[in-house]
Amino acid sequence: MRIVLVGPPGAGKGTQAHVLAKTLSIPHISTGDLFRANISQGTPLGLEAKAYMDAGRLVPDEVTIGMAKDRMLQPDAENGFLLDGFPRNLGQAKALDEILAEQGIVLDGVLDLEVPEDEVVKRIAGRRLCRNDGSHVFHVVYNPPKVDDVCDECGGELYQRSDDTEEAVRVRLEEYHSKTEPIIGYYADQGLLVTISALGKVGEVTERAIGALEQKKTA
Ligand code: ADP
Repeated sequence: MRIVLVGPPGAGKGTQAHVLAKTLSIPHISTGDLFRANISQGTPLGLEAKAYMDAGRLVPDEVTIGMAKDRMLQPDAENGFLLDGFPRNLGQAKALDEILAEQGIVLDGVLDLEVPEDEVVKRIAGRRLCRNDGSHVFHVVYNPPKVDDVCDECGGELYQRSDDTEEAVRVRLEEYHSKTEPIIGYYADQGLLVTISALGKVGEVTERAIGALEQKKTA
């Protein structure tokens, strides 16, 4: 399956993507994780992305599209992938269409995770990520690790993202409304959109997501 996940920051895209990718046996491709890996390795791409990310702004398309394309063309993504955080504006959505057309492949669905804004703010404030793997995501109240600041999955150290500050979150939400939300209509027009509520426990949302994607497949 080839799926795109959309939703505001804090909707739980990373958390759901991690579980969904495992369940569907497809790689989880997160542009946010790719940027964070570049930052921690000190690459030129990471250096360029960091200032935008810390401010809550989108990294420019020239940088983002090439990075996403390279990852999508890796052998493990040949039979499917779950895109998380890409595309994030109409230019990227059109670039993705071109990449897919070049490969002679199509998307199976676009899963939109809906969540009210006050919930987003609460989720982001308590979010903790694993240094070893950014898709190991915890929350101090909603999904606490068994041992404080230690990842249940791999024992890695948990940390708070530098763009999870109140100011950066406000900018990220503005960026989401002005730049990312238009792609929801774009995909609805293509008959690809599946919208679910992202409220409730992680497992409940996963079940809802799998149910909705299966319905889409048979529709
Ligand atoms: P969230 O969905 O919680 O905002 P992500 O990890 O997906 O978190 O993204 C974090 C930051 O990485 C974004 O605020 C942005 O600066 C950058 N980023 C990630 N994906 C993209 C993209 N497709 N285009 C531009 N910037 C991106």
